[in-house]
Formats: sequence, structure tokens, C-alpha cells
Amino acid sequence: MSNEIVLLGAGYAGISFLNTILPHIPADVHISVVDRLSNHTIKPEYYALASGSLNETKIKAPFPVHKQVTYINDEIEEIQVYNHKVMCKKNELHFDHLIVALGCVDNYFNVPWAEEYTHSIQTFGKAMQTRKVIDALLPDNHVVIIGGGLSSVEFASDLREQHPELNITMLERSNEVLPTLPERIQRFVRDYLDDHEIQVLTNISVTMVDDKQVHYSFENRSIPYDVCVWAAGIKPNPISNALLAYSNPDRMNRIVVKDNYELPYFKGIFVVGDCASSAFAPSAQLSHLQGKQLGQYFLSVWQNREYIPEPIKLKGVLGYLGKKTGFGMVSDNVILGKVPHVIKSGVLWMHKHHIG
Ligand SMILES: Cc1cc2nc3c(=O)[nH]c(=O)nc-3n(C[C@H](O)[C@H](O)[C@H](O)COP(=O)(O)OP(=O)(O)OC[C@H]3O[C@@H](n4cnc5c(N)ncnc54)[C@H](O)[C@@H]3O)c2cc1C
Repeated sequence: MSNEIVLLGAGYAGISFLNTILPHIPADVHISVVDRLSNHTIKPEYYALASGSLNETKIKAPFPVHKQVTYINDEIEEIQVYNHKVMCKKNELHFDHLIVALGCVDNYFNVPWAEEYTHSIQTFGKAMQTRKVIDALLPDNHVVIIGGGLSSVEFASDLREQHPELNITMLERSNEVLPTLPERIQRFVRDYLDDHEIQVLTNISVTMVDDKQVHYSFENRSIPYDVCVWAAGIKPNPISNALLAYSNPDRMNRIVVKDNYELPYFKGIFVVGDCASSAFAPSAQLSHLQGKQLGQYFLSVWQNREYIPEPIKLKGVLGYLGKKTGFGMVSDNVILGKVPHVIKSGVLWMHKHHIG
């Protein structure tokens, strides 16, 4: 295996890869890590940046320090597969091996003007911008959140605690919030949202967003907003689209990879995290495990061992409802109330304090 590895993205998958290999990295290998941020960030808490309940320092963790790793703070713009190059805003990097761990971006599903007029909790910068516009709102102003999934529910309930003076509405396309979770969780969460005066409109298919209103298909109606936040779907980071010529997309446009996360039709390029195809939905947990497995693959090559990946097993889903209660599924059991909140805080705390 040649010696210059370029790692794009120091999020959940990228950091997990680094933490797996660094204790055993051969002396002649060098890694360049490129990220637009100069810290690792706890992305599952971006909603709390936007609502204002967490200060940005609380969601940052230092990158692991190692003499064979160089961190490059830059905006990645293009992967040139055939030239073995990555073009960034300020740098041009050559790679022998490339690891793409660039996460995902909002998917606007071609809804006209959604990208232009809505705010986001999908990147650190966008979540901070969302916080700014929310802070500038007046009592009785209206925040409309498009999407009724995990991050929307967490954001809405946290926003309610931070801003009791605001009106909050969630718009969900299916007939209940958290459509992929069991009915018991849906009912519990819905009762919580009702009790906390968060209006939920279901069966809403958004057709257009303009500068003042969200339009939706049900009887061609619209709902006015002061701030509108899009949390209705994600897609792989479009920079990874350059790799599709050497693979295939799955139904979420994630890149199909081999067992060792390498592209099927180009040697030496690996994809992990939200950009990589999997039987599971994208999550921090999945990205962490994929980064670890990729690290184990690199170690097996360096140590001349066979690579036998273990099947990926996820522990479950956990969600916050404000700062005291929550919901979740752990080993197929539904848990509601204080316990899932405490477990989730513990998981995120452990992650943050075992990075550097
Ligand atoms: C609000 C919210 C709540 C969530 N809650 C949960 C949860 O409870 N549980 C869970 O398991 N998952 C949750 N997720 C999903 C989880 O955060 C992601 O699945 C996970 O972070 C993906 O890991 P990754 O390594 O693929 O990408 P990321 O962790 O997103 O890392 C990608 C890295 O690439 C960098 N990057 C991207 N583009 C560029 C560029 N052009 N130039 C330079 N750098 C770039 C980013 O700065 C980032 O550091 C949540 C997500 C959000 C937004």
C-alpha cells in the first residue's frame, strides 16, 4: 500500500478511522485530513446550536494529534479521480489512497425556492446562521419546521424550551411524526408536542416555499412563517458524485462499495459514512462503525493479515425531547421518558471525550 493517504472529512466516520489506525500506523505512512472545520463536531447536537440551548464550544472536540497526520483547514471542491487529485479552495492535494467521509447535505427534492428561503441544521455554519435569525425573532413570530423526523422533533422541542414566546409548527409528509419508529413512540412524542403547544400538520406535501409562506398540496394551501427550517431529508455530499462513474448509486444515491469500503471499479478510493451505501439508514452510529471497519482493513493490509469484517450491528435509536425527557429503541425495546435522555447524553459525552 502506497504512503500518502488523503482523508476528506473529519466527522464521525473520518475520526473513527483515524482513532482505529493511529495507534498502529506504520512509520512511512502520512495522512492529510481535510475539513472546512478546525475541530471535530458532534453533529447530532447541531439542532441545539440552532435553538440556542448549546454554546458552540460544547459541541466541539479536538482532532487526534499525531506526528504523521496533517490537518488542512480548507473547503473541498472537487475530486479528480483519474488524476489522483483533490481540488480545494486553497490547496491541491495528490493522493495514493483517498478516503471520502464527507457526510450529507439537505435534500430539497426539487421543491422550488426551498434552498433559497429556508434555513438549515445540517452543517455547523448553517446551524449557527439559523440561531442568528431565531434570536432576532419577536414574541409571537412563527417558526415553521419542514420535516417530522428525529432531528426536527429534537429541534422543535428544544426550541420550545428556549423560546416559549414563539409559535412553532412542524409539517410532516406522512400521517405521523417519526414515521419509521414504532407507534408507541409516535404517540408519546405527539402527546409531548401537543402538550408543549407545538402544532403538527401531517400529510403535508410541500410544493413551494416563497419568502413569506410555505405552500403545500392539500387544497393548495399555504402557511406563513417568519423563519422556516428545512429538515425534510438528506442526500450524500454532492462532491462524492464524481465517484459514481466507478460504482453505482443505491436508492438514496449513496455510493455502493465493496466489503472493505473501496469503490468496485477503482482501486485505492474508499467511501464511508453518510456517502456510502448500506443496508441501514445514515446515522452517526453507522458512520462510526464504518470508519472503524475501514481502519481495521488498513491495519490488516499493513500487518499482512486477512480482512474479515464483522457484520454491522446497530444498538438502536435515541431522541431528545427538550432537556429532561426523550424516547428510543434499544435492542428492539421501546424506552420512553428520562432514561433514553440520560443514555443519549452519556453516548454523546463518551464520543466527545474519547476523540483527541
Ligand atoms: C440535527 C441532527 C441530529 C442528528 N441526530 C442523530 C442521532 O441522534 N443519532 C445518530 O446516529 N445520527 C444523528 N444524526 C446524523 C449524524 O450526525 C450523521 O449521520 C453523521 O454525522 C454522519 O457521519 P459522517 O462521518 O458521514 O459525516 P459528518 O459527521 O457530517 O462529517 C463530515 C465532515 O466533512 C466535512 N465537510 C463536508 N463537506 C466539506 C467540504 N466541501 N469541504 C471541507 N469539509 C467538508 C464536515 O465539516 C464534517 O466534518 C443527526 C444529524 C443532524 C443534522
